[in-house]
Amino acid sequence: MNFDLTPEQRQLRDAVSALGRRYGHAYFVARAKAGEHTTELWGEAGKLGYLGVNVPAEYGGGGGGITELTIVCEELAAAGCPLLMLVVSPAIVATIIARHGTEEQRTGFLPGIADGSRRVAFAITEPEAGSNFHRLGTVASRDGADWLLSGRKCFISGVDSADHVMVVARTEVAGRLRPALFLVPTDAAGLTRSKLDMEILSPESQWLLYLDDVRLPANARVGGEESGLPALFAGLNPERITVAAMGAGTGRYALERAAAYTASRSVWGRPIGSHQGVAHPLAHAAIQVELARLMIAKAAALYDSGRDLETGVAANMAKYAAAEAAALAVDAAIQAHGGNGMTTEYGVATLLGGVRAGRIAPVSREMILNFVAQHVLNQPKSY
Ligand SMILES: Cc1cc2nc3c(=O)[nH]c(=O)nc-3n(C[C@H](O)[C@H](O)[C@H](O)COP(=O)(O)OP(=O)(O)OC[C@H]3O[C@@H](n4cnc5c(N)ncnc54)[C@H](O)[C@@H]3O)c2cc1C
Repeated sequence: MNFDLTPEQRQLRDAVSALGRRYGHAYFVARAKAGEHTTELWGEAGKLGYLGVNVPAEYGGGGGGITELTIVCEELAAAGCPLLMLVVSPAIVATIIARHGTEEQRTGFLPGIADGSRRVAFAITEPEAGSNFHRLGTVASRDGADWLLSGRKCFISGVDSADHVMVVARTEVAGRLRPALFLVPTDAAGLTRSKLDMEILSPESQWLLYLDDVRLPANARVGGEESGLPALFAGLNPERITVAAMGAGTGRYALERAAAYTASRSVWGRPIGSHQGVAHPLAHAAIQVELARLMIAKAAALYDSGRDLETGVAANMAKYAAAEAAALAVDAAIQAHGGNGMTTEYGVATLLGGVRAGRIAPVSREMILNFVAQHVLNQPKSY
């Protein structure tokens, strides 16, 4: 068992951290409040190769794995820049295309995802289906060689900065509806969107999508007749692992802010960090964040070594642990700051909406508990 990063991974971590800290949380907040994207940070991260660390080298990426991508997600979040589209475009979409796309889709999409010049959103959630993807109502039907897609999607992140959205629909195979994935241009005729007002301070927004007979050529489909489900699952574990890394990074960021504050703030003649009532909640949160980081490293290592079955449990556990730890760390950091914890200047309350959402999305804590009860504890399926 080796707990050390390789020299290349350490170098990547230091370099991404330096980039993130050059921009910092104030930049992230300013862009979010202005309703603008973090275009400069995204562009620079792309040019430096950080967005494509997990993309195969022959398609312009770094040829690494999800371990490398967790480093990028965690370090940018630890610098106060938790970028949700990292979890979508390089983690979910690039993985699905690399594993299940055609050669044309790989050469068409992967280099742009890797250098950041193109972003692809991912749309599975629907208003009616909720956590139950078996109830997806977006249907793809054939019209000659083309496909026609109709349905509704909700909470889809970053559609406004994406040129395509990978849509999870259902198509009829031998009388049964099976999941099928499609790359839909965001300017396709019949695709409209409206912005959801969310209580999350982030430059990346969520959207409702309406697909009304969106016509797509045959080559827009990713994966064949039988591989819709495996293609979908190929993206979900990387999503869970990288979103967990983002949570762990956010927890680290909050605790770093809190530790600096409690060491320097004196109210009764000594730094407030000398009171156990202040220091212990931060220490407790630091332990939870570190435990989550261990589980993230395990899940990423399992994924990168191709142990897909074991990855499922580890990825879910990592996501659960990191979401809880991040929420705890941000809450403890706010408390340790007193009134300053609620100011914009001190840069912790600005994370509240994001870490709270992390306990719901991309998979809720309840659905993870269902999964663990069933697959680890062998309990009957409860729903
Ligand atoms: C910030 C943010 C970004 C998002 N980005 C995207 C995106 O880019 N693409 C995308 O497709 N989706 C996205 N989502 C959607 C997200 O994945 C869903 O919100 C999430 O999967 C939960 O689904 P739901 O909101 O329909 O909740 P529901 O399924 O309606 O569940 C509501 C509550 O009931 C609980 N519940 C439901 N069923 C059970 C059960 N069987 N047992 C126990 N409890 C249960 C849930 O845990 C939850 O607490 C995003 C959401 C947010 C908040």
